[in-house]
Amino acid sequence: MQIKTSMVHTTPQTIIGQLKTIVGEKNWLETETEKAAFLVDERGLFHGQTALIVFPNTTAQVAQIVTLCHRENIKIVPQGGNTGYAGGATPQTEQEILVCLAKLNQIREVDALNYTMIVEAGCILADVQQQAAKIDRLFPLSLGAEGSCQMGGVLSTNAGGMAVLRYGNARELILGLEVILPNGQIWQGLRKLRKDNSGYDLKHLFIGAEGTLGIITAVTLKLFPKPCETTTALVAIETIELAVQLLTRLRKISGDEVSSFEYINHHCLELVVKHFPHITIPFDEEAYSHYVLFSLETSRPTVDLQTLMEKVLTQAFEAEEILNAVIATSIQQTDQLWQLRERIPEAQKLAGRCIKHDISVPISNIAQFMNEATVAAEQLIPNVNVSPFGHIGDGNIHFNLMQPVDMQSDLFLAQTQTINNAIHDIAMRLSGSFSAEHGIGQLKNTALAHYKSEVEYQLMQTVKSALDPENIMNPGKIFKPA
Ligand SMILES: Cc1cc2nc3c(=O)[nH]c(=O)nc-3n(C[C@H](O)[C@H](O)[C@H](O)COP(=O)(O)OP(=O)(O)OC[C@H]3O[C@@H](n4cnc5c(N)ncnc54)[C@H](O)[C@@H]3O)c2cc1C
Repeated sequence: MQIKTSMVHTTPQTIIGQLKTIVGEKNWLETETEKAAFLVDERGLFHGQTALIVFPNTTAQVAQIVTLCHRENIKIVPQGGNTGYAGGATPQTEQEILVCLAKLNQIREVDALNYTMIVEAGCILADVQQQAAKIDRLFPLSLGAEGSCQMGGVLSTNAGGMAVLRYGNARELILGLEVILPNGQIWQGLRKLRKDNSGYDLKHLFIGAEGTLGIITAVTLKLFPKPCETTTALVAIETIELAVQLLTRLRKISGDEVSSFEYINHHCLELVVKHFPHITIPFDEEAYSHYVLFSLETSRPTVDLQTLMEKVLTQAFEAEEILNAVIATSIQQTDQLWQLRERIPEAQKLAGRCIKHDISVPISNIAQFMNEATVAAEQLIPNVNVSPFGHIGDGNIHFNLMQPVDMQSDLFLAQTQTINNAIHDIAMRLSGSFSAEHGIGQLKNTALAHYKSEVEYQLMQTVKSALDPENIMNPGKIFKPA
């Protein structure tokens, strides 16, 4: 390990030895083979390096690691499930230590009366959902990677997912945090309060900070009544404008009980059924151009959601808002329908090269965005396979472009920056964001510097340097390296 800094007091091997001692036997990895899986990001875009990977299993161990690294000016990269889409959890150099939170994974407290749960950062999201269900509660955050992403990563990226429309994104589901600050101090902010106006609400600094301001070690989650009925439908529609109209109708008629509202372009469905032949599209007709998959959900036992769903879809047919519809009548059918949506990222990964965008615009501008972005993409790359999908109910579309069959991968990927600029410019002009839910990491730090106003960017830098003046926490992420 080479540490090129004037602040090193002890020899690097000594520091590595001390880090190993803190976490104990079997809780560190050092050989290249052992480290390999942790050093490449989910999309295979970033390949990193590190001298050592440590797996602390208590908050005290994390604090000791950070205290030591702070004293010795060693950079730290936190990692959760490593499912992030922006390369935020990949260390860039041998001088960075990777701190994996997977073993810090206890459920510390379940308070059914207060509708809260305190869990450690390494808990897997799906396990947290199941724990909540066991006490007849709902933790509503839900996303395709829920079987492997961890609560620390979910909060650090302020993850969104399928249920944002009804329950909000990660930020809105948190009441308190425990964080190890960049100097090793523990900030004990695990409050369980729904009301607390005692000064700045500091937890929001760390949510969405992608590990650049400290390491989250535990979190107080907000729970909800477990829904007693859910109904799901897949509809075919002619235009994006009509999808937005359908959402408006659904929100009004259901008393805002729409829990998810996902857009799927027909190219995406074709890829899913091609790569996962056990999944089928439940319509006899030729493929339609656009689909919406949505669920209504209620925790009121008196509401008959199935009848409500039939009523609203009948009205939508009569208003010529939808072309066809299938309502799931069993749990198996519901799962089948959701597979059509959830398998899209995997199907796109299997299908070849993909230029991805994670944009959002006000939902009133979504149709204009889709129209303009499609024209721009097709002008820049003729025959490109425009394959958007995503959380249209939140105005968030994964505007993905698949490699044309007659184009070489490297020529296609060479267009990435030009395409990104065009698509992001359109989103920003329509009052949107170039990064709706996947964060900045090392993938979009140049775009952040470009699109944020000078005032906003400087404010962010001020916060960073106030908390982490030595820049030891996840350097090169969010901000462009100096
Ligand atoms: C199939 C698939 C579907 C997905 N769908 C969605 C979706 O619908 N919505 C969505 O928002 N995202 C989605 N994602 C992206 C990803 O799953 C989320 O960003 C997730 O929240 C990342 O969690 P993680 O534990 O894997 O974090 P990691 O990838 O390990 O880390 C992400 C960032 O958080 C930091 N970090 C991790 N743990 C901590 C900690 N304890 N303290 C401080 N910083 C930390 C890392 O340094 C990094 O910057 C999807 C990914 C996949 C593969």
